[in-house]
Amino acid sequence: MMEFHSLLSIRNLRTCFHTYEGVVTAVDGIDLEVYRGETLGVVGESGCGKSVTALSILRLLASPPAEIKGEILFEERDLLKMSVDEIREIRGNAISMIFQEPMTSLNPVLTIGEQISEAIRLHQGLTRQEAWAKAIEMLQMVQISSAEVRVNEYPHKLSGGMRQRAMIAMALSCHPRLLLADEPTTALDVTIQAQIVDLMERLKEEIHTSVLLITHNLGLIAEMARRVVVMYAGKVVEEALVEDLFSEPLHPYTQGLLGSIPWIGRKMETGRRQLQEIPGMVPSLLEMPEGCRFHPRCPRVMEVCKGEEPPLVQKEGRRILCWLWK
Ligand code: SF4
Repeated sequence: MMEFHSLLSIRNLRTCFHTYEGVVTAVDGIDLEVYRGETLGVVGESGCGKSVTALSILRLLASPPAEIKGEILFEERDLLKMSVDEIREIRGNAISMIFQEPMTSLNPVLTIGEQISEAIRLHQGLTRQEAWAKAIEMLQMVQISSAEVRVNEYPHKLSGGMRQRAMIAMALSCHPRLLLADEPTTALDVTIQAQIVDLMERLKEEIHTSVLLITHNLGLIAEMARRVVVMYAGKVVEEALVEDLFSEPLHPYTQGLLGSIPWIGRKMETGRRQLQEIPGMVPSLLEMPEGCRFHPRCPRVMEVCKGEEPPLVQKEGRRILCWLWK
């Protein structure tokens, strides 16, 4: 059996924001593990805390108003205890992030080449010339045609798909051990989406990067991830291997998201399938329901769910936060 070693261990992560209306807890005591060489998918509706988790890992949230507690062990060092200089050294080097909107990380006033080569120079200590050649190589690697010409372009001159590729090139230019990908293909059209997925898969093989993939797109999870965690209202409510979760979702929330249809093995057909809508609203982070946070929307709600927080149940290598499985 293949053995997996932990690369990133998140323990009891709690990220809250101090606002005028009160303290908003966006991530509420989650545990996560990303193993070397694997892709871990994170799914959930908007506002469930998945993007805040990624931003917390790299400490990209302004503090205050954000406050991050718990442990984020990356290669056994706690990112939350590092100095500003140490975390800066980790960002874009050992850990990179790609976003839905490439302009979030691309600087509009610098050419693509200047940005990629600067990142390479900073982290790898190459000369300007060497870093520039490496930038062209990275653009070729992400299949940008005429890379030696494009390297001189400003981001706004490129199409959406090309900008996304340029951002991936920049994120991967230092061969990160961990890539945080937050909705990496959502803004792109279907053909480009498929190309970006192929590209990320290929690069993962070539440079052995582990990926934390945050997305609404279940097809993407089915295609890329080995394991998946489902988040709801700041908590992890279910965790399982992808095939187990899709063939037999155990948490009522996951069952709702997947539309209760076993569909693994039909990736192509369902490649662009999105999460299902579940009746009711995601609760406001300022007014969390008592007991199980999902109880006002749960079709299987019981009396105990309304008053007491559900236990985290371990079952055949899975985790489920629900009274049903106690
Ligand atoms: Fe539904 Fe109760 Fe399970 Fe919550 S704990 S998901 S309300 S059955």
